[in-house]
Amino acid sequence: MAVAGARNALPERLPERMRAVVLHGREDLRVDEVETPRAGEGEVVLRVDAALTCGTDRKVYRRGYHAKMLRPPMLFGHEVAGTIVESRAAAFAVGERVVALNSAPCGACYFCRREQENLCADLLFNNGAYAEYLRVPARIVEKNLLRIPEGMAAAHAAMTEPLACALHAWEDSGARAGDVVAVIGAGPLGLMMMRLAVMDGCRLIAVVKHREQAGMARALGAAEVIEAGAATGASASAEVVAAVRACTEDGRGVDLAVEAVAVPETWQQAVEMTRSGGVVNFFGGPAAGTVVSLDTNRLHYGDMTLKATFHHTPAVCRRAFAMLADGRFDARALLTGEATLDELPEIFRGWGARRGEIKTVVVPHAGMQTQK
Ligand SMILES: [Zn+2]
Ligand SMILES: [Zn+2]
Repeated sequence: MAVAGARNALPERLPERMRAVVLHGREDLRVDEVETPRAGEGEVVLRVDAALTCGTDRKVYRRGYHAKMLRPPMLFGHEVAGTIVESRAAAFAVGERVVALNSAPCGACYFCRREQENLCADLLFNNGAYAEYLRVPARIVEKNLLRIPEGMAAAHAAMTEPLACALHAWEDSGARAGDVVAVIGAGPLGLMMMRLAVMDGCRLIAVVKHREQAGMARALGAAEVIEAGAATGASASAEVVAAVRACTEDGRGVDLAVEAVAVPETWQQAVEMTRSGGVVNFFGGPAAGTVVSLDTNRLHYGDMTLKATFHHTPAVCRRAFAMLADGRFDARALLTGEATLDELPEIFRGWGARRGEIKTVVVPHAGMQTQK
């Protein structure tokens, strides 16, 4: 630890230029030299200790843009923990380790006043975690910058953002201990939902695509795992629904289904595998313009509750952070690799081909100790 501490020493002064992974367009990712960001009034600059890859970044990579971010060329990456190297914010000092969330609400709009800050009309986003240094805007410093306790690994702290999204959806779903919960989809967020369901004493039925994901779902505590395979279409879908129902008492269906794939077929499956009076949470974020058809007769006479949960609020971020800090949520199982900035373009290129990979820890500075 002493050695790591010495290696982790802060620079005396910020270098003029830094290395950063820049998205130049669709599937065009390069490691560039860019100007090192400096802190404006109320802002801080972090040395990035750990950044995590995320499915949202992959979407941005494949589309070459993001509706809520700048157009390319742009810095990106948004799950991050680091050490403050420059501060113009009264509440934070150089040397403090922090998690900077990827957004902060305005606090004044209609949605913020109703404690629905995730829907803030003026949500401020921050990207650029795949870089040596990251500027944190004043509003995020004020509302969503969290101090990392001693002994907590940077990579675990960086998981606060995705876990906050999952926890928000989980809390919104209102499941109780003993409930039978199906989670469809074993991407990072689906796996987090699975873990939260098990932690709260629910009986988990995991619906996954392939064998590696099945193993992961079991390791996270799934009572039953349905391997849906790659087949699509009505009969494949009916098989999945029948398999899930067969795992429930009298085949009545699950109390809660969480959809974490974001395609119409799995939205329909989620509704069809849920019992009358049950809850469905559409947690996956589909592409704009996606349309789905559902059996409205069953929705009405089955007294179904359909809901969707998007993003996070400052309060839920703090609860997610606390779960990671005190070890209730073990981040280790979801961190499956480590990469330098130079290796990151290749990681994005090969995404999906390497099964069993969940999240990669990006370590921009050589010799950092980010995981324990
Ligand atoms: Zn993310
Ligand atoms: Zn607002």
